[in-house]
Amino acid sequence: MPLAEDTTRVVEQFDLSSEDVNKHVKEFLRQMGEGLEKEGTSISQIPTYVTGVPNGTEKGLYLAVDLGGTNFRVCSIMLNGDTTFNLTYNKVAIPKELMVAKTASDLFAFLAKQIELFLREHHTDHFNSHLHRRATFSEAAGFRDEHIFRLGFTFSFPVQQLAINKGNLIRWTKGFDIPDAVGKDVCALLQTEIDKLHLPVKVAALVNDTVGTLMARSYTSTGKHGSLLGAIFGTGTNGAYIEKVANIKKPISGEYDTSTGDMVINTEWGSFDNQLNVLHTTPWDVALDAQSVNPGVQMFEKRVSGMFLGEIVRHAVVEMVKNEQSGLFRDLNSSYNDWATTTSISAQSGIFKPWGLDSAVLSVAAADNTPELSTLRQELEALHIYTPSLEDAQAFKSICNAVGRRAARLSAVAIGAIAIQSGKLDDPNEEVIDIGVDGSLVEHYPFFRDMIHEALREIEGIGAKGADKIRIGIAKDGSGVGAALIALVASGME
Ligand code: ADP
Repeated sequence: MPLAEDTTRVVEQFDLSSEDVNKHVKEFLRQMGEGLEKEGTSISQIPTYVTGVPNGTEKGLYLAVDLGGTNFRVCSIMLNGDTTFNLTYNKVAIPKELMVAKTASDLFAFLAKQIELFLREHHTDHFNSHLHRRATFSEAAGFRDEHIFRLGFTFSFPVQQLAINKGNLIRWTKGFDIPDAVGKDVCALLQTEIDKLHLPVKVAALVNDTVGTLMARSYTSTGKHGSLLGAIFGTGTNGAYIEKVANIKKPISGEYDTSTGDMVINTEWGSFDNQLNVLHTTPWDVALDAQSVNPGVQMFEKRVSGMFLGEIVRHAVVEMVKNEQSGLFRDLNSSYNDWATTTSISAQSGIFKPWGLDSAVLSVAAADNTPELSTLRQELEALHIYTPSLEDAQAFKSICNAVGRRAARLSAVAIGAIAIQSGKLDDPNEEVIDIGVDGSLVEHYPFFRDMIHEALREIEGIGAKGADKIRIGIAKDGSGVGAALIALVASGME
């Protein structure tokens, strides 16, 4: 089978037709509804206790910390009250031994120490406020209330949130393993260590990064009604949106501000349709899932996010390379007949190693529109593929485009379903439905947002008119600004 024909065979399998998109949207809405009713569903729909979004007029100086995976970020954010902010930050790598420390206190003492170093470096005035250690003493630290920094804690591990500043760790992920911390309130663990250092800091809010994105976008966007949804398309994918409390049928334990009638819901949509009722599936998705550390879960994420797209392409390419008939990446000078000796891919190439192809290559492929595909061919050479022909590069680009396009169309399923669920599409008072996004994939993949919009137009109940109403914008520094904004909301509730 000639190369072009074999490429078409592979590419066609990633096609997500309009009909498919609509089928996915219906199922997404059904699973969202199920998640609002009970626990243990595919889309978890976790209440966040955040009951409103900012409008850009918020003011004040806040602290935010972010414990993600490899780094710990400490920042202070000055909200200027005019949709702008100033951000100062320090970033430090988490020592490997602390990721598997004996006690929770070992890790959290390190985090508190970083907060102290940050305050000493950037906010000495605030920190050395011994003069203010009079009258209205606060808790352990003994500072006057107005000199205490409110801190938003972005913690990107699974937690069962119990209040705006209370959440128990369900389990560690991403290489962390400190059994002592499991089941404990991570805000309390951090506060205890902060108090031991007598810092003027109160952990005011526990923040999921999607909620931070939603808050940050609402603060900076100029729409009069704030944003509806914050979504991440980075290593993973997830979204948080504003839901009517009346629609949340499962019990919400603990206190929250009931005045808005709304609550931000963290969907955890990465696990949409783990049962594969409708989720588009190719043989390469099946192969990827089988070799993943968590087969059968996060099935939506495995078709959409940065951690997986390169790997899907890799599986498809390896199949084509091994298919003698297809002729992809052949060494035309070789006199051998078997693929292993005639391929132009070195055995060291990432193409032959699980997880060896970074998703960033999809962006390179999509961006290269030169007649000779010279940038992409250089990239392939860097992957130890020797002298790839123009036809090889064209085939590779087509596969990358097919995988990237399907990811964008699936992203539109989630965004479209939430736009429909909000009821704002037909509301004449809502001129714009604003959506904040963050993550390398949506930021760097060329035309990712355009492909999302194209698919949104195909959704029944949205159409061209509805799609034109939906504005998707990047939320910069979401985790810092968003955490600060949630700390602000939380301090209003004290
Ligand atoms: P995180 O989600 O961990 O905060 P990022 O938003 O930077 O971090 O996402 C990192 C993921 O994005 C990685 O899986 C990486 O492969 C992927 N990625 C990085 N650059 C690009 C790019 N230019 N195009 C597509 N994917 C990319």
